[in-house]
Amino acid sequence: LPVLGIETSCDDTGAAVVTSDGKILGEALRSQAELLRQYGGVMPLAARLNHEQAIDEVVAQALENAKVKESDLAAVAVTIGPGLSLCLDVGVRKARSISRCWRLPFVGVHHMEAHALVARLTNADIQFPFLVLLVSGGHNLLLIAKDVGDYVELGTTLDDAVGEAYDKTARLLGLDICKGGGPALEELALEGDADAFKFTVPMRSHKDCNFSYAGLKTQVKLTIESLNINGAVPLASASSSDRQSRANVAASFQVVAVRHLEDRCRRALEWAREMEPCMKRMVVAGGVASNKYLRSRLGAVAKEHQLDLFFPPPRLCTDNGVMVAWTGVEYIRLGLYDPPPPVDEPEDYWVDLRPRWKLGEICRETSSGRP
Ligand code: ATP
Ligand code: FE
Repeated sequence: LPVLGIETSCDDTGAAVVTSDGKILGEALRSQAELLRQYGGVMPLAARLNHEQAIDEVVAQALENAKVKESDLAAVAVTIGPGLSLCLDVGVRKARSISRCWRLPFVGVHHMEAHALVARLTNADIQFPFLVLLVSGGHNLLLIAKDVGDYVELGTTLDDAVGEAYDKTARLLGLDICKGGGPALEELALEGDADAFKFTVPMRSHKDCNFSYAGLKTQVKLTIESLNINGAVPLASASSSDRQSRANVAASFQVVAVRHLEDRCRRALEWAREMEPCMKRMVVAGGVASNKYLRSRLGAVAKEHQLDLFFPPPRLCTDNGVMVAWTGVEYIRLGLYDPPPPVDEPEDYWVDLRPRWKLGEICRETSSGRP
């Protein structure tokens, strides 16, 4: 049974149709690369406008690719939070109108839960409970996933998320951030010497599972200033010695950024095994999980602790409609969904958006899967 998923929480307009046995029938994704390049970040109003212009086409394209009509759908799922309200609103209204028109069950999806659960779409071996590390542009989370909609938070970021640190460093280094700063920085780091600068690994003396990237960001900024690297000069126009310095900063930054994740995963595993002694699986997801260096380093941590480690394929790590459709499938299977909105619902009806929703606050006690 095909479920339509819609994602508009940040700057990607995504839609996909996924069946209950995990087949991706069709998908479509439009990202706002030009806007990112122009503003150096996400501007909520401009992002909303882009979602509005793209949403009908993206959904139509996903359905067409899937060779499915709206009337064939079994349910509609959409990200209702966390994210930018202006942007979430566009996807939620579209999803509600399809749900209303075709009388389809409606699932309001938590964006970070979708990042985590999509690993179960590509790998059926991932049974609950498992440890989750979510690393993205807005979040750093360590969780125990006990079941769909049931998470224990072990740690979160006290300031910036790791993806944000990658993005900011990339910007200071004058990299092309149209695909997000992360991929550009990862690529440049391959040319650099990771021992060139000794940045401090964050929070080594804190015996908890929280993260902090603000201090590292400041160290990087000061180093870039001391090297007289001018981020306004694009990498492509930099002299070869300038390029080498930038690569050295990138490599040194990446090693420390990932070392912090390694430290926290080790501690989280200790904690998790106290609560669930048989904890033997870990999922790493979110945009930064597509990073190859991170994958290999966390792979080593997993090996050292006899942990089975799972990553979604890179294209499903960054925002997409598939992860939302799949989360819809997971909820529908458990009978957790809302009925379609009333037929006579006016277009300007108040919609339930949760821009600051925490994963631990998901509540499965009600049929809607929400408090
Ligand atoms: P959130 O999911 O927290 O709401 P988001 O949806 O904006 O934030 P994602 O789309 O999950 O974030 O991920 C985007 C982030 O991932 C960006 O910060 C980007 O730089 C980072 N990223 C993507 N690919 C890589 C990579 N190869 N290496 C490092 N970071 C990466
Ligand atoms: Fe995301």
